[in-house]
Amino acid sequence: MRIADLRHRLRSLGAKPKHEERVLRLWVNALPQTHGRRRIEDWLPLELREALPALEAELAALAQLRSAHDGEDGSQRLLVTLADGQTVESVLLPRDGLCVSTQAGCAVGCVFCMTGRDGLIRQLTSAEIVAQVALARQRRAVRKVVFMGMGEPAHNLDEVLEAIDLLGTAGGVGHKQLVFSTVGDERVFERLPQGRVKPALALSLHTTKAALRAQLLPRAPRFEPADLVEAGERYARSTGYPIQYQWTLIEGVNDGDDEIEGIVALLKGRYAIMNMIPFNAVDGLSFRRPTDDRAAQIMRTLNHRGVLARLRQSAGQDVDAGCGQLRARELAPGRR
Ligand code: SF4
Repeated sequence: MRIADLRHRLRSLGAKPKHEERVLRLWVNALPQTHGRRRIEDWLPLELREALPALEAELAALAQLRSAHDGEDGSQRLLVTLADGQTVESVLLPRDGLCVSTQAGCAVGCVFCMTGRDGLIRQLTSAEIVAQVALARQRRAVRKVVFMGMGEPAHNLDEVLEAIDLLGTAGGVGHKQLVFSTVGDERVFERLPQGRVKPALALSLHTTKAALRAQLLPRAPRFEPADLVEAGERYARSTGYPIQYQWTLIEGVNDGDDEIEGIVALLKGRYAIMNMIPFNAVDGLSFRRPTDDRAAQIMRTLNHRGVLARLRQSAGQDVDAGCGQLRARELAPGRR
């Protein structure tokens, strides 16, 4: 189900725009039907009122909790079953954030990511993306939604943008608190500025060297890092939100002094924040995490040289934190 289909169904059941918005708001915000002055049944057209229980059951089936796993950092990883039995992961983040999946599997194939190992399984619909927020809100408040779970949002752009539109309107999430994360794609830079809800943008950079980037992100569009930064800068200036650059820090791969020089050359003076996330061990991959000392030294150097940089940890590291790890383990318990 797409959000557009849902709106169409509501209208065909006699909903006027105010009814449609109210039903959507109750769903996305996981509010009880008694929210507000009157019960919802009191003011809906009869046909819609009668159809509502079945529709609500259908919406609830879009994303159901299979298991929840608490992390020591206050995060909680949710394994979510979709209506056709596929599973994806969402992560409740500290400070009312939620990381959602936009695809089951992913075609980009980043060599350090468990999700990328199996390729794309299927796209999620806009309603399935929003349903992860509705499900999470049954457990906790959600005031920020980052599209950094399983999948590459740019490869499912229409659905993700439709979800963003609803979350930024009836969903009550501030536009800057919606974070579209991508490896970089021309269509993203064309479409995002056109939306009535303009999300913040996170760009997965991972290295300043084009050849190495092609190895690490084998099926990402071939953007020169400098061109990616130029496109990001234009979006940042037009929206007024800084670009968040993402960098999975891997020992001996992209943690050298040459990369620090490259980052300074690319990002000094830019409206940007560099988020570095030390690699999280994945069985079957030979990559290693840099020492804490080395990661801290990189942060100090970047900040000293005029690049705003933060060291982040992948949420819930103690519970299979790399995206796709929890799903892989639950579906094949011998595999870690
Ligand atoms: Fe896809 Fe993101 Fe994993 Fe890369 S890191 S394979 S873009 S899910």
